[in-house]
Amino acid sequence: MSCKDKLAVVTGGMGGIGTAICHRLAQEGAKVIATCHPSETDQVDAWVKSQIDNNAQVSVVAGDVSTPEGGATLMREIVEKYGPVDILVNCAGITRDTTMKKMTAEQWDAVIDTNLSSAFYVTQPIWNGMIERGFGRVINISSVNGQRGQFGQVNYSAAKAGMHGFTMALAYEGAAKGVTINTVSPGYIETAMTAAMRDDVRDAIIGGIPMRRMGQPEEIAHAVAFLADDASTYVTGANLPVNGGLFIH
Ligand code: NAD
Repeated sequence: MSCKDKLAVVTGGMGGIGTAICHRLAQEGAKVIATCHPSETDQVDAWVKSQIDNNAQVSVVAGDVSTPEGGATLMREIVEKYGPVDILVNCAGITRDTTMKKMTAEQWDAVIDTNLSSAFYVTQPIWNGMIERGFGRVINISSVNGQRGQFGQVNYSAAKAGMHGFTMALAYEGAAKGVTINTVSPGYIETAMTAAMRDDVRDAIIGGIPMRRMGQPEEIAHAVAFLADDASTYVTGANLPVNGGLFIH
């Protein structure tokens, strides 16, 4: 695989899955920019050092992707400093889980803005450039729970399902111009998010996964690297499940 000399941007790039994606795309030859939330800037130096120790040269730019101004400013800063973006991975995401009965409008909006609207806010500023240059790879990180729904996640499941709707519609616009856009839908992946689960909840989840284990962030990064590859020219509008068989349809 190769992403040699491409500029790749990974939103939520300092998170569990984002870190693995940054590392893998750097290994494939891309120049990688991770974006982080402004509240994470105190962790940037340590994170960049850990990446260098891991043989990956990655830069970080901070910005809030959940607002139109935040997304536009972030992408403008990146393009001005590093040049045109060839590969964009929309990976930033949050959960605010609770039942329908208890969910507040704030919990709904936070998840829709961060997990779904962000894809629009971040992709739009660089979309025309990809079309004009005749090359682009946009990869949206959705979730198995956007495909099948999940108890206590009407906000998250709606946002993640919407993300693939965004992928499918935009794929038509990029198809004749060398720009592909695809979704990766992870199942349960071992990150800080899932490590925080109670042991009994975690065991029950693993018991329901046909492969009897959670996935590793590197397994998501592998799917992203495939879709980002220079040679992945004929795959667009797809939703690639990476879930250990948790949801087969
Ligand atoms: P994570 O919490 O480790 O990483 C998410 C990152 O997004 C964080 O670094 C966070 O700061 C950033 N972020 C959140 N809100 C932001 C905002 N408004 N602006 C900018 N950055 C923001 O989570 P993760 O487990 O690495 O998940 C990464 C993606 O994969 C998410 O979209 C998540 O929904 C999805 N996913 C995760 C799992 C899993 O099991 N971990 C499963 C399916 C899908």
